[in-house]
Amino acid sequence: MSVNTCHFSARKSGAMKVQSVRGMNDIFEPSMMLWHRIEETLRRVYGAFGYGEIRTPIVESTSLFSRGVGSDSDIVEKEMYTFLDRNGDSLSLRPEGTASVARAVIEHGLMNENPTLKLYYLGAMFRHERPQKGRYRQFHQYGIELLGVETPQADTEIMSCHHVLYQELKLKDVELRLSSIGCDVCRPKYKALLTAKLIPLESQLPADFQKKIHTNPQRIFDHKDEKIKELASSLPLILDHLCSECQTHFEKVQTGLTNLNVPFTVDPKIVRGIDYYYRTAFEFTSNHLGAQSAVGGGGRYDKLFEELGGKPTPGVGYAGGLERLVMLLEAQDLKLSERVDFFFVCPDEGGFLKAQSICHELRIRSVRADMELQTKSMKAQMKRAGKVNSRFAVIIGSQEVEKGVAVVRNMDTQAQEEISLEKLLAHLMKIKV
Ligand code: AMP
Repeated sequence: MSVNTCHFSARKSGAMKVQSVRGMNDIFEPSMMLWHRIEETLRRVYGAFGYGEIRTPIVESTSLFSRGVGSDSDIVEKEMYTFLDRNGDSLSLRPEGTASVARAVIEHGLMNENPTLKLYYLGAMFRHERPQKGRYRQFHQYGIELLGVETPQADTEIMSCHHVLYQELKLKDVELRLSSIGCDVCRPKYKALLTAKLIPLESQLPADFQKKIHTNPQRIFDHKDEKIKELASSLPLILDHLCSECQTHFEKVQTGLTNLNVPFTVDPKIVRGIDYYYRTAFEFTSNHLGAQSAVGGGGRYDKLFEELGGKPTPGVGYAGGLERLVMLLEAQDLKLSERVDFFFVCPDEGGFLKAQSICHELRIRSVRADMELQTKSMKAQMKRAGKVNSRFAVIIGSQEVEKGVAVVRNMDTQAQEEISLEKLLAHLMKIKV
């Protein structure tokens, strides 16, 4: 994937060269083919699991995210692109998709006639993070939300759907890690216990974490510093402090996954960066992603709708990063099958009109065919046929037109044959992939 890291550079002449914004990338061929393949697979798998697409605006009221994602979360506190519009309203570029989906469902009463609603989305998200490999300021998320069902079977479905998706994409070494972060009953008690354990350790904790001891002490398990990790290893874990309802829910999620042959590991240290999660929390990870090991993350969020002024509505969802899928598939050296089938080569102008009309007929039939539209040497045209990775070059010059034939050359084997112009279209349709 192409990654730009600079924004403006002053040229010696004095004119400023405009470049993309730091952490925001242009995406183009050949990576684009991989993006399309991933998007097509996503839509197919989500469709098979019964999810329909929803598209929400990129810009929302800032209050949606401060209430939905949580004003204490890193996303809202430090990472949102927030601005006042010309009316003085505070707006933000969306940093994630779930809050917007919940807002849209409430606003349009989408659940009035559907007690169960299954939605998926795909689109650009924005977070002002420090850009690095796998972490950008504009990135793309795909995700699903299953609304109206509070059973553990719903959680299982979200995970099994993505297990299938990653298998369909032939992604290697992706692991599902699962935990429960408790509910309104057990989490506050566990949080108080953790805070009490952390207070005597306060002086050993980094300044940026000290505030979290009282607001979000679980984030200690997410800390990257080795010394803090060591310190965290002796702290109590939520899984040992779940209430009986959360415990039963968690066990049933695991039974469901085992029933569907979805492999998973229980990881009690999973913490989610977003406040709305409730009970089930999970991540798909890969150790081929470097420091940013998360392929995606999700969980249950039964309190989110009330937070946004809607009716109590149970929900569970998941979001993954498209850039990270592209990175993983590129590292697996996935060969792209999208090649141009035929590149027409005209050694002189005499064959141009014939080549143009056959090329057009192929395109009408959705066959990938291309040709040079300006006068170029035969050598330059053959070079371009190679550059666009065409399977065949179809050579038509005045000599061929006179003989009533075209030369069809297999670009992989270099074998070539003469085909009569009358039968050329039918022949090409037969040998296309
Ligand atoms: P989150 O909404 O933070 O749970 O993120 C879900 C997934 O989105 C992550 O696991 C990543 O795959 C992807 N993601 C989140 N933030 C970024 C980012 N800044 N750049 C690229 N991908 C991201």
